[in-house]
Amino acid sequence: MNAERGRDIQLLIDGEFRAGSSNDWLAIVNPATEATVGRLAVATKADLDRALAAAARGFAQWRTVSPFERSKLLRRAGDLIRSRADGLAEALTAEQGKPLAEARIEIMTCGDILDWYAEEGRRTYGRTIPARLPGVTQIVTQEPVGPVAAFSPWNFPASQAMRKIAGALAAGCSIIIKPPEEAPSAALAFGAALTEAGVPAGVVNIVFGRPAEISEHLIPSPIIRKVSFTGSVPVGKHLAQLAGAHMKPATMELGGHAPVLVFDDVDPAKAAQILVGMKFRNAGQVCVSPTRFYVQGDSYRPFLKAFAGAAQALRVGEGRDPQSQMGPLANRRRLDAVESLVNDAVADGAKVATGGKRIGNRGYFYAPTVLTDLPASARILSTEPFGPVALIQPFGDPAEAIEKANATSYGLASYAFTKSSERAALAAGSLQSGMVGINHFGVGLIETPFGGIKDSGYGHEGGSEGLAAYLVKKFVSQAPI
Ligand code: NAD
Repeated sequence: MNAERGRDIQLLIDGEFRAGSSNDWLAIVNPATEATVGRLAVATKADLDRALAAAARGFAQWRTVSPFERSKLLRRAGDLIRSRADGLAEALTAEQGKPLAEARIEIMTCGDILDWYAEEGRRTYGRTIPARLPGVTQIVTQEPVGPVAAFSPWNFPASQAMRKIAGALAAGCSIIIKPPEEAPSAALAFGAALTEAGVPAGVVNIVFGRPAEISEHLIPSPIIRKVSFTGSVPVGKHLAQLAGAHMKPATMELGGHAPVLVFDDVDPAKAAQILVGMKFRNAGQVCVSPTRFYVQGDSYRPFLKAFAGAAQALRVGEGRDPQSQMGPLANRRRLDAVESLVNDAVADGAKVATGGKRIGNRGYFYAPTVLTDLPASARILSTEPFGPVALIQPFGDPAEAIEKANATSYGLASYAFTKSSERAALAAGSLQSGMVGINHFGVGLIETPFGGIKDSGYGHEGGSEGLAAYLVKKFVSQAPI
Protein backbone atom coordinates (compact mmCIF):
# COMPACT_ATOMS: atom_id res chain seq x y z
CA MET A 1 0.00 0.00 0.00
CA ASN A 2 1.29 3.40 -0.97
CA ALA A 3 -0.30 6.33 0.85
CA GLU A 4 -0.30 8.66 -2.16
CA ARG A 5 -1.41 6.16 -4.72
CA GLY A 6 -3.86 4.25 -2.51
CA ARG A 7 -4.31 0.51 -2.72
CA ASP A 8 -2.52 -1.76 -5.20
CA ILE A 9 -4.80 -4.50 -6.44
CA GLN A 10 -2.82 -7.37 -7.90
CA LEU A 11 -3.67 -10.48 -9.86
CA LEU A 12 -4.09 -13.85 -8.12
CA ILE A 13 -2.58 -16.59 -10.26
CA ASP A 14 -1.65 -20.05 -9.04
CA GLY A 15 -1.93 -19.02 -5.38
CA GLU A 16 0.34 -15.98 -5.78
CA PHE A 17 -0.58 -12.31 -5.70
CA ARG A 18 1.43 -10.57 -8.40
CA ALA A 19 1.55 -7.53 -10.69
CA GLY A 20 0.92 -8.10 -14.39
CA SER A 21 3.99 -9.17 -16.36
CA SER A 22 4.07 -5.83 -18.25
CA ASN A 23 3.74 -3.84 -15.00
CA ASP A 24 0.81 -1.99 -16.54
CA TRP A 25 -1.75 -0.52 -14.06
CA LEU A 26 -5.19 1.09 -14.28
CA ALA A 27 -6.53 3.73 -11.87
CA ILE A 28 -9.43 2.98 -9.50
CA VAL A 29 -11.66 6.05 -9.09
CA ASN A 30 -14.02 6.88 -6.22
CA PRO A 31 -17.32 7.74 -7.96
CA ALA A 32 -18.34 10.10 -5.14
CA THR A 33 -15.23 12.28 -5.33
CA GLU A 34 -13.61 11.34 -8.66
CA ALA A 35 -10.34 10.91 -6.70
CA THR A 36 -8.02 8.03 -7.50
CA VAL A 37 -8.19 5.56 -4.62
CA GLY A 38 -5.89 2.87 -5.93
CA ARG A 39 -4.65 1.09 -9.00
CA LEU A 40 -5.02 -2.37 -10.36
CA ALA A 41 -2.75 -4.69 -12.28
CA VAL A 42 -3.45 -5.42 -15.95
CA ALA A 43 -3.06 -9.04 -17.04
CA THR A 44 -1.15 -9.72 -20.26
CA LYS A 45 -1.67 -12.74 -22.50
CA ALA A 46 1.31 -14.37 -20.77
CA ASP A 47 -0.43 -13.84 -17.40
CA LEU A 48 -3.64 -15.31 -18.78
CA ASP A 49 -1.73 -18.34 -20.08
CA ARG A 50 -0.27 -18.79 -16.60
CA ALA A 51 -3.77 -18.57 -15.14
CA LEU A 52 -5.03 -21.16 -17.64
CA ALA A 53 -2.25 -23.60 -16.80
CA ALA A 54 -2.87 -23.03 -13.08
CA ALA A 55 -6.61 -23.57 -13.50
CA ALA A 56 -5.95 -26.87 -15.29
CA ARG A 57 -3.68 -28.06 -12.47
CA GLY A 58 -6.02 -26.67 -9.81
CA PHE A 59 -8.97 -28.53 -11.33
CA ALA A 60 -7.07 -31.83 -11.48
CA GLN A 61 -6.43 -31.55 -7.76
CA TRP A 62 -9.70 -29.96 -6.53
CA ARG A 63 -11.97 -32.42 -8.28
CA THR A 64 -10.42 -35.20 -6.18
CA VAL A 65 -11.07 -33.40 -2.88
CA SER A 66 -14.27 -34.84 -1.37
CA PRO A 67 -17.35 -32.61 -1.34
CA PHE A 68 -17.34 -33.01 2.46
CA GLU A 69 -13.81 -31.58 2.70
CA ARG A 70 -14.50 -28.88 0.09
CA SER A 71 -17.50 -27.81 2.14
CA LYS A 72 -15.35 -27.30 5.24
CA LEU A 73 -12.86 -25.11 3.37
CA LEU A 74 -15.59 -22.97 1.82
CA ARG A 75 -17.24 -22.43 5.20
CA ARG A 76 -13.90 -21.47 6.73
CA ALA A 77 -13.43 -18.86 3.98
CA GLY A 78 -16.95 -17.55 4.66
CA ASP A 79 -16.03 -17.03 8.33
CA LEU A 80 -12.85 -15.16 7.36
CA ILE A 81 -14.81 -12.88 5.03
CA ARG A 82 -17.41 -12.11 7.71
CA SER A 83 -14.63 -11.29 10.17
CA ARG A 84 -13.24 -8.74 7.68
CA ALA A 85 -16.59 -7.25 6.67
CA ASP A 86 -15.97 -3.72 7.98
CA GLY A 87 -12.76 -3.14 6.00
CA LEU A 88 -14.13 -4.81 2.89
CA ALA A 89 -17.32 -2.73 3.04
CA GLU A 90 -15.32 0.50 3.28
CA ALA A 91 -13.28 -0.41 0.21
CA LEU A 92 -16.44 -1.39 -1.66
CA THR A 93 -18.06 1.97 -0.90
CA ALA A 94 -14.90 3.87 -1.91
CA GLU A 95 -14.76 2.05 -5.25
CA GLN A 96 -18.44 1.64 -6.15
CA GLY A 97 -20.21 4.43 -4.26
CA LYS A 98 -23.06 2.57 -2.51
CA PRO A 99 -23.94 3.50 1.09
CA LEU A 100 -21.73 1.77 3.65
CA ALA A 101 -24.68 -0.10 5.19
CA GLU A 102 -25.55 -1.61 1.77
CA ALA A 103 -21.89 -2.47 1.20
CA ARG A 104 -21.70 -4.27 4.54
CA ILE A 105 -24.84 -6.28 3.79
CA GLU A 106 -23.35 -7.25 0.44
CA ILE A 107 -20.13 -8.50 2.05
CA MET A 108 -22.01 -10.44 4.74
CA THR A 109 -24.19 -11.95 2.01
CA CYS A 110 -21.02 -13.33 0.44
CA GLY A 111 -20.44 -15.38 3.62
CA ASP A 112 -23.99 -16.72 3.25
CA ILE A 113 -23.38 -17.56 -0.39
CA LEU A 114 -20.30 -19.59 0.53
CA ASP A 115 -22.16 -21.37 3.36
CA TRP A 116 -25.07 -22.24 1.12
CA TYR A 117 -22.98 -23.58 -1.74
CA ALA A 118 -20.74 -25.41 0.74
CA GLU A 119 -23.80 -27.39 1.84
CA GLU A 120 -25.40 -27.75 -1.60
CA GLY A 121 -22.12 -29.06 -3.00
CA ARG A 122 -22.47 -32.08 -0.71
CA ARG A 123 -25.70 -33.04 -2.46
CA THR A 124 -24.58 -33.63 -6.04
CA TYR A 125 -26.49 -36.89 -6.08
CA GLY A 126 -26.72 -39.21 -9.06
CA ARG A 127 -29.32 -41.88 -9.76
CA THR A 128 -29.71 -45.51 -10.72
CA ILE A 129 -31.87 -46.49 -13.67
CA PRO A 130 -33.42 -49.99 -13.66
CA ALA A 131 -31.73 -52.13 -16.32
CA ARG A 132 -33.38 -54.26 -19.03
CA LEU A 133 -30.98 -57.15 -18.51
CA PRO A 134 -30.07 -59.06 -15.34
CA GLY A 135 -26.72 -58.05 -13.84
CA VAL A 136 -26.54 -54.72 -15.65
CA THR A 137 -26.18 -51.57 -13.55
CA GLN A 138 -27.02 -48.18 -15.03
CA ILE A 139 -25.97 -45.15 -13.05
CA VAL A 140 -25.96 -41.41 -13.69
CA THR A 141 -23.27 -39.42 -11.88
CA GLN A 142 -22.60 -35.70 -11.74
CA GLU A 143 -19.10 -34.41 -12.31
CA PRO A 144 -17.63 -30.90 -12.23
CA VAL A 145 -17.68 -29.44 -15.75
CA GLY A 146 -14.05 -28.23 -15.58
CA PRO A 147 -12.19 -24.91 -15.38
CA VAL A 148 -14.55 -21.93 -15.61
CA ALA A 149 -14.00 -18.49 -17.20
CA ALA A 150 -16.20 -15.99 -15.36
CA PHE A 151 -16.87 -12.27 -15.78
CA SER A 152 -18.66 -10.38 -13.01
CA PRO A 153 -19.94 -6.77 -13.04
CA TRP A 154 -19.49 -3.60 -11.02
CA ASN A 155 -22.99 -3.08 -9.60
CA PHE A 156 -22.54 -5.78 -6.93
CA PRO A 157 -18.78 -6.24 -7.16
CA ALA A 158 -18.67 -8.63 -4.19
CA SER A 159 -21.80 -10.77 -4.37
CA GLN A 160 -21.85 -11.21 -8.16
CA ALA A 161 -18.26 -12.44 -8.06
CA MET A 162 -18.96 -14.69 -5.10
CA ARG A 163 -21.99 -16.34 -6.73
CA LYS A 164 -19.70 -17.52 -9.53
CA ILE A 165 -16.71 -18.45 -7.35
CA ALA A 166 -18.77 -20.35 -4.75
CA GLY A 167 -20.88 -22.20 -7.32
CA ALA A 168 -17.84 -23.30 -9.30
CA LEU A 169 -15.80 -24.36 -6.26
CA ALA A 170 -18.67 -26.21 -4.58
CA ALA A 171 -19.13 -28.24 -7.76
CA GLY A 172 -15.41 -29.12 -7.83
CA CYS A 173 -14.40 -26.74 -10.65
CA SER A 174 -11.50 -24.33 -10.76
CA ILE A 175 -12.15 -20.77 -11.94
CA ILE A 176 -10.48 -17.82 -13.61
CA ILE A 177 -12.62 -14.80 -12.81
CA LYS A 178 -12.38 -11.28 -14.16
CA PRO A 179 -14.19 -9.13 -11.61
CA PRO A 180 -14.98 -5.48 -12.42
CA GLU A 181 -11.98 -3.23 -12.96
CA GLU A 182 -13.90 -0.33 -11.35
CA ALA A 183 -14.37 -2.14 -8.02
CA PRO A 184 -11.85 -4.96 -7.69
CA SER A 185 -11.02 -5.14 -3.95
CA ALA A 186 -13.73 -7.47 -2.73
CA ALA A 187 -13.09 -10.24 -5.24
CA LEU A 188 -9.36 -10.15 -4.56
CA ALA A 189 -10.03 -10.34 -0.82
CA PHE A 190 -12.21 -13.40 -1.46
CA GLY A 191 -9.29 -15.00 -3.29
CA ALA A 192 -7.11 -14.30 -0.25
CA ALA A 193 -9.70 -15.76 2.17
CA LEU A 194 -10.16 -18.92 0.12
CA THR A 195 -6.38 -19.38 -0.12
CA GLU A 196 -6.00 -18.89 3.65
CA ALA A 197 -8.84 -21.33 4.28
CA GLY A 198 -6.85 -24.02 2.48
CA VAL A 199 -8.20 -24.03 -1.08
CA PRO A 200 -5.23 -25.24 -3.19
CA ALA A 201 -3.26 -22.95 -5.50
CA GLY A 202 -4.70 -22.65 -9.01
CA VAL A 203 -8.31 -23.34 -7.98
CA VAL A 204 -9.21 -19.63 -7.80
CA ASN A 205 -7.42 -17.29 -10.20
CA ILE A 206 -8.33 -13.60 -10.40
CA VAL A 207 -7.36 -11.41 -13.33
CA PHE A 208 -8.08 -7.83 -14.34
CA GLY A 209 -7.31 -5.77 -17.39
CA ARG A 210 -8.99 -5.06 -20.70
CA PRO A 211 -12.22 -7.09 -20.66
CA ALA A 212 -12.38 -7.90 -24.39
CA GLU A 213 -8.75 -9.03 -24.49
CA ILE A 214 -9.33 -11.30 -21.51
CA SER A 215 -12.57 -12.90 -22.70
CA GLU A 216 -11.24 -13.40 -26.22
CA HIS A 217 -8.17 -15.16 -24.87
CA LEU A 218 -9.82 -17.30 -22.19
CA ILE A 219 -13.06 -18.48 -23.80
CA PRO A 220 -11.50 -20.18 -26.85
CA SER A 221 -8.83 -21.94 -24.74
CA PRO A 222 -9.39 -25.71 -24.69
CA ILE A 223 -8.72 -25.63 -20.93
CA ILE A 224 -11.90 -23.62 -20.28
CA ARG A 225 -15.05 -25.79 -20.15
CA LYS A 226 -17.68 -23.31 -18.96
CA VAL A 227 -18.38 -19.58 -19.34
CA SER A 228 -20.37 -17.46 -16.89
CA PHE A 229 -21.07 -13.77 -17.56
CA THR A 230 -23.12 -11.11 -15.78
CA GLY A 231 -23.45 -7.75 -17.52
CA SER A 232 -25.06 -6.01 -20.47
CA VAL A 233 -27.08 -7.63 -23.24
CA PRO A 234 -24.72 -6.63 -26.11
CA VAL A 235 -21.62 -7.99 -24.34
CA GLY A 236 -23.57 -11.10 -23.26
CA LYS A 237 -24.62 -11.80 -26.85
CA HIS A 238 -21.03 -11.40 -28.02
CA LEU A 239 -19.64 -13.74 -25.36
CA ALA A 240 -22.45 -16.27 -25.92
CA GLN A 241 -21.44 -16.40 -29.60
CA LEU A 242 -17.81 -16.87 -28.67
CA ALA A 243 -18.72 -19.63 -26.21
CA GLY A 244 -20.98 -21.27 -28.81
CA ALA A 245 -18.27 -21.19 -31.46
CA HIS A 246 -16.07 -23.20 -29.10
CA MET A 247 -18.94 -25.43 -27.84
CA LYS A 248 -18.72 -24.16 -24.26
CA PRO A 249 -21.85 -24.11 -22.12
CA ALA A 250 -22.59 -20.60 -20.85
CA THR A 251 -24.65 -18.92 -18.16
CA MET A 252 -25.74 -15.43 -19.18
CA GLU A 253 -27.18 -13.06 -16.56
CA LEU A 254 -27.94 -9.94 -18.59
CA GLY A 255 -29.97 -6.80 -18.09
CA GLY A 256 -33.61 -6.28 -17.17
CA HIS A 257 -36.34 -3.65 -17.45
CA ALA A 258 -38.67 -4.86 -14.73
CA PRO A 259 -42.35 -3.92 -14.90
CA VAL A 260 -44.45 -3.51 -11.76
CA LEU A 261 -48.24 -3.81 -11.86
CA VAL A 262 -49.86 -1.93 -8.97
CA PHE A 263 -53.53 -2.98 -8.85
CA ASP A 264 -56.24 -0.79 -7.35
CA ASP A 265 -56.94 -3.16 -4.43
CA VAL A 266 -53.74 -2.24 -2.54
CA ASP A 267 -53.06 0.92 -0.55
CA PRO A 268 -51.19 3.01 -3.16
CA ALA A 269 -49.19 4.98 -0.59
CA LYS A 270 -48.03 1.80 1.16
CA ALA A 271 -47.05 0.18 -2.15
CA ALA A 272 -45.18 3.37 -3.12
CA GLN A 273 -43.17 3.30 0.13
CA ILE A 274 -42.07 -0.31 -0.46
CA LEU A 275 -41.30 0.33 -4.11
CA VAL A 276 -39.21 3.48 -3.53
CA GLY A 277 -36.91 1.42 -1.31
CA MET A 278 -36.59 -1.20 -4.03
CA LYS A 279 -36.16 1.26 -6.88
CA PHE A 280 -33.38 3.41 -5.47
CA ARG A 281 -31.31 0.71 -3.76
CA ASN A 282 -27.79 0.84 -5.24
CA ALA A 283 -28.93 3.97 -7.15
CA GLY A 284 -31.11 1.76 -9.33
CA GLN A 285 -28.09 -0.09 -10.74
CA VAL A 286 -29.70 -3.46 -10.17
CA CYS A 287 -30.69 -5.78 -13.01
CA VAL A 288 -33.95 -6.70 -11.21
CA SER A 289 -34.71 -3.09 -10.20
CA PRO A 290 -38.38 -2.15 -10.72
CA THR A 291 -38.43 0.36 -13.57
CA ARG A 292 -41.77 0.55 -15.42
CA PHE A 293 -44.61 1.12 -12.95
CA TYR A 294 -48.14 0.53 -14.27
CA VAL A 295 -50.70 1.78 -11.75
CA GLN A 296 -54.41 0.96 -12.01
CA GLY A 297 -57.20 3.50 -12.29
CA ASP A 298 -57.80 5.83 -9.34
CA SER A 299 -54.66 4.58 -7.58
CA TYR A 300 -52.46 6.35 -10.13
CA ARG A 301 -52.57 9.90 -8.65
CA PRO A 302 -52.06 8.94 -4.96
CA PHE A 303 -49.36 6.42 -5.92
CA LEU A 304 -47.49 8.98 -8.01
CA LYS A 305 -47.72 11.61 -5.26
CA ALA A 306 -46.45 9.22 -2.57
CA PHE A 307 -43.71 7.74 -4.77
CA ALA A 308 -42.39 11.09 -6.05
CA GLY A 309 -42.53 12.55 -2.53
CA ALA A 310 -40.55 9.66 -1.03
CA ALA A 311 -38.05 9.73 -3.93
CA GLN A 312 -37.48 13.45 -3.46
CA ALA A 313 -36.97 12.98 0.28
CA LEU A 314 -34.15 10.45 -0.17
CA ARG A 315 -30.82 11.70 1.14
CA VAL A 316 -28.28 11.42 -1.66
CA GLY A 317 -24.62 11.69 -0.72
CA GLU A 318 -21.28 9.99 -0.31
CA GLY A 319 -21.70 6.35 0.66
CA ARG A 320 -19.38 6.71 3.63
CA ASP A 321 -21.73 9.28 5.22
CA PRO A 322 -24.12 7.23 7.40
CA GLN A 323 -26.92 9.69 6.58
CA SER A 324 -26.80 8.85 2.85
CA GLN A 325 -29.60 6.65 1.56
CA MET A 326 -28.37 6.69 -2.03
CA GLY A 327 -24.83 7.15 -3.35
CA PRO A 328 -23.53 8.28 -6.73
CA LEU A 329 -23.74 6.25 -9.92
CA ALA A 330 -20.81 3.87 -10.09
CA ASN A 331 -19.02 5.35 -13.06
CA ARG A 332 -19.03 8.21 -15.53
CA ARG A 333 -20.46 5.98 -18.32
CA ARG A 334 -23.56 5.37 -16.22
CA LEU A 335 -24.05 9.08 -15.47
CA ASP A 336 -23.81 9.93 -19.17
CA ALA A 337 -26.18 7.10 -20.14
CA VAL A 338 -28.83 8.05 -17.55
CA GLU A 339 -28.61 11.76 -18.45
CA SER A 340 -29.03 10.98 -22.11
CA LEU A 341 -32.00 8.61 -21.62
CA VAL A 342 -33.83 11.08 -19.36
CA ASN A 343 -33.10 14.10 -21.59
CA ASP A 344 -34.33 12.21 -24.67
CA ALA A 345 -37.54 11.18 -22.87
CA VAL A 346 -38.19 14.78 -21.83
CA ALA A 347 -37.51 16.00 -25.37
CA ASP A 348 -40.09 13.41 -26.53
CA GLY A 349 -42.73 14.86 -24.17
CA ALA A 350 -42.26 13.01 -20.86
CA LYS A 351 -42.83 15.02 -17.67
CA VAL A 352 -40.44 15.10 -14.73
CA ALA A 353 -42.31 14.54 -11.42
CA THR A 354 -39.05 14.81 -9.48
CA GLY A 355 -35.32 14.78 -10.19
CA GLY A 356 -34.31 14.64 -13.84
CA LYS A 357 -30.85 16.08 -13.35
CA ARG A 358 -27.36 15.59 -12.07
CA ILE A 359 -26.56 16.75 -8.52
CA GLY A 360 -23.49 19.01 -8.30
CA ASN A 361 -20.55 18.73 -10.64
CA ARG A 362 -18.15 16.56 -8.69
CA GLY A 363 -18.92 12.88 -8.29
CA TYR A 364 -21.43 10.99 -10.41
CA PHE A 365 -24.55 11.93 -8.40
CA TYR A 366 -27.92 11.87 -10.15
CA ALA A 367 -31.18 12.81 -8.45
CA PRO A 368 -33.81 10.11 -7.77
CA THR A 369 -36.04 10.66 -10.79
CA VAL A 370 -39.67 9.99 -11.62
CA LEU A 371 -40.96 10.41 -15.18
CA THR A 372 -44.61 10.34 -16.27
CA ASP A 373 -46.57 10.90 -19.50
CA LEU A 374 -44.08 8.90 -21.51
CA PRO A 375 -44.78 8.59 -25.21
CA ALA A 376 -44.67 4.96 -26.40
CA SER A 377 -41.69 5.91 -28.58
CA ALA A 378 -39.50 7.01 -25.63
CA ARG A 379 -36.17 5.16 -25.81
CA ILE A 380 -36.13 4.75 -22.02
CA LEU A 381 -39.19 2.47 -22.21
CA SER A 382 -37.19 -0.11 -24.14
CA THR A 383 -33.60 0.57 -23.01
CA GLU A 384 -32.65 -0.38 -19.48
CA PRO A 385 -31.92 2.85 -17.56
CA PHE A 386 -29.80 1.00 -14.96
CA GLY A 387 -30.00 4.04 -12.75
CA PRO A 388 -32.29 5.92 -10.33
CA VAL A 389 -35.19 6.45 -12.72
CA ALA A 390 -38.80 5.30 -12.28
CA LEU A 391 -41.28 5.45 -15.18
CA ILE A 392 -44.87 5.70 -13.88
CA GLN A 393 -47.90 5.21 -16.09
CA PRO A 394 -51.62 4.54 -15.50
CA PHE A 395 -53.60 1.52 -16.74
CA GLY A 396 -57.23 0.47 -16.76
CA ASP A 397 -57.62 -3.09 -17.96
CA PRO A 398 -55.19 -5.72 -16.54
CA ALA A 399 -54.78 -7.28 -19.99
CA GLU A 400 -53.51 -3.93 -21.30
CA ALA A 401 -50.99 -3.68 -18.45
CA ILE A 402 -49.71 -7.21 -19.03
CA GLU A 403 -49.30 -6.49 -22.74
CA LYS A 404 -47.28 -3.33 -22.00
CA ALA A 405 -45.27 -5.09 -19.29
CA ASN A 406 -44.24 -7.78 -21.78
CA ALA A 407 -43.48 -5.34 -24.60
CA THR A 408 -39.69 -5.19 -24.19
CA SER A 409 -36.95 -7.56 -25.30
CA TYR A 410 -35.98 -8.13 -21.65
CA GLY A 411 -37.39 -10.86 -19.39
CA LEU A 412 -35.56 -10.90 -16.07
CA ALA A 413 -37.87 -9.89 -13.21
CA SER A 414 -41.46 -8.61 -12.91
CA TYR A 415 -43.54 -7.57 -9.93
CA ALA A 416 -47.19 -7.21 -9.05
CA PHE A 417 -48.89 -5.66 -6.02
CA THR A 418 -52.37 -6.94 -5.28
CA LYS A 419 -54.47 -8.51 -2.51
CA SER A 420 -56.40 -10.58 -5.02
CA SER A 421 -55.25 -14.17 -5.50
CA GLU A 422 -56.83 -14.11 -8.96
CA ARG A 423 -54.80 -11.08 -10.05
CA ALA A 424 -51.66 -12.51 -8.45
CA ALA A 425 -52.16 -15.71 -10.44
CA LEU A 426 -52.75 -13.68 -13.62
CA ALA A 427 -49.50 -11.77 -13.09
CA ALA A 428 -47.47 -14.85 -12.15
CA GLY A 429 -48.80 -16.74 -15.15
CA SER A 430 -48.67 -14.01 -17.81
CA LEU A 431 -45.60 -11.90 -17.11
CA GLN A 432 -42.78 -12.94 -19.41
CA SER A 433 -39.79 -13.08 -17.07
CA GLY A 434 -37.60 -15.57 -15.28
CA MET A 435 -38.73 -14.30 -11.86
CA VAL A 436 -41.93 -12.76 -10.50
CA GLY A 437 -42.22 -11.05 -7.11
CA ILE A 438 -45.73 -10.56 -5.73
CA ASN A 439 -46.13 -7.82 -3.09
CA HIS A 440 -42.41 -7.79 -2.30
CA PHE A 441 -38.93 -7.91 -3.80
CA GLY A 442 -37.90 -11.45 -2.81
CA VAL A 443 -36.17 -12.59 -6.01
CA GLY A 444 -32.47 -12.42 -5.18
CA LEU A 445 -31.82 -15.08 -2.54
CA ILE A 446 -28.98 -17.54 -2.91
CA GLU A 447 -31.25 -20.55 -2.30
CA THR A 448 -33.65 -19.59 -5.10
CA PRO A 449 -32.95 -19.71 -8.86
CA PHE A 450 -31.99 -16.36 -10.35
CA GLY A 451 -32.09 -15.93 -14.11
CA GLY A 452 -33.92 -14.51 -17.08
CA ILE A 453 -35.54 -15.32 -20.42
CA LYS A 454 -35.58 -13.45 -23.77
CA ASP A 455 -32.66 -11.00 -24.09
CA SER A 456 -32.05 -11.20 -20.34
CA GLY A 457 -30.09 -14.38 -20.93
CA TYR A 458 -30.16 -18.03 -19.97
CA GLY A 459 -29.15 -20.25 -17.08
CA HIS A 460 -29.36 -19.58 -13.37
CA GLU A 461 -27.26 -18.64 -10.41
CA GLY A 462 -28.62 -19.58 -7.02
CA GLY A 463 -30.82 -22.51 -6.10
CA SER A 464 -29.88 -26.05 -7.00
CA GLU A 465 -29.83 -24.73 -10.60
CA GLY A 466 -26.87 -22.53 -9.67
CA LEU A 467 -24.82 -25.57 -8.72
CA ALA A 468 -26.07 -27.62 -11.70
CA ALA A 469 -24.60 -24.90 -13.94
CA TYR A 470 -21.12 -26.19 -13.02
CA LEU A 471 -21.90 -29.91 -13.26
CA VAL A 472 -22.13 -32.35 -16.15
CA LYS A 473 -23.92 -35.67 -16.11
CA LYS A 474 -22.24 -38.95 -16.95
CA PHE A 475 -24.12 -42.14 -17.65
CA VAL A 476 -22.31 -45.38 -16.86
CA SER A 477 -23.73 -48.76 -17.89
CA GLN A 478 -21.96 -51.89 -16.63
CA ALA A 479 -22.65 -55.49 -17.57
CA PRO A 480 -21.19 -58.64 -16.00
CA ILE A 481 -18.46 -60.45 -17.97
P1 NAD B 1 -20.66 -2.66 -20.83
O1 NAD B 1 -21.59 -3.28 -21.79
O2 NAD B 1 -19.47 -1.94 -21.35
O3 NAD B 1 -20.06 -3.74 -19.80
C1 NAD B 1 -20.85 -4.57 -19.01
C2 NAD B 1 -19.92 -5.50 -18.20
O4 NAD B 1 -19.28 -6.38 -19.09
C3 NAD B 1 -18.80 -4.80 -17.45
O5 NAD B 1 -18.63 -5.45 -16.21
C4 NAD B 1 -17.58 -4.99 -18.35
O6 NAD B 1 -16.37 -5.05 -17.62
C5 NAD B 1 -17.85 -6.30 -18.99
N1 NAD B 1 -17.36 -6.42 -20.36
C6 NAD B 1 -17.47 -5.49 -21.34
N2 NAD B 1 -16.97 -5.98 -22.50
C7 NAD B 1 -16.52 -7.23 -22.23
C8 NAD B 1 -15.92 -8.25 -23.00
N3 NAD B 1 -15.69 -8.10 -24.32
N4 NAD B 1 -15.59 -9.40 -22.39
C9 NAD B 1 -15.84 -9.60 -21.08
N5 NAD B 1 -16.44 -8.69 -20.30
C10 NAD B 1 -16.77 -7.52 -20.86
O7 NAD B 1 -21.54 -1.72 -19.97
P2 NAD B 1 -21.28 -0.95 -18.62
O8 NAD B 1 -21.30 0.50 -18.91
O9 NAD B 1 -20.16 -1.50 -17.82
O10 NAD B 1 -22.62 -1.35 -17.88
C11 NAD B 1 -23.86 -0.83 -18.31
C12 NAD B 1 -24.83 -1.88 -18.73
O11 NAD B 1 -24.45 -3.17 -18.28
C13 NAD B 1 -26.16 -1.60 -18.11
O12 NAD B 1 -26.98 -1.01 -19.08
C14 NAD B 1 -26.71 -2.92 -17.69
O13 NAD B 1 -27.64 -3.38 -18.63
C15 NAD B 1 -25.57 -3.87 -17.79
N6 NAD B 1 -25.22 -4.47 -16.50
C16 NAD B 1 -25.95 -5.51 -16.05
C17 NAD B 1 -25.66 -6.10 -14.86
C18 NAD B 1 -26.45 -7.26 -14.36
O14 NAD B 1 -26.47 -7.49 -13.17
N7 NAD B 1 -27.08 -8.04 -15.23
C19 NAD B 1 -24.60 -5.63 -14.10
C20 NAD B 1 -23.84 -4.55 -14.57
C21 NAD B 1 -24.16 -3.99 -15.79
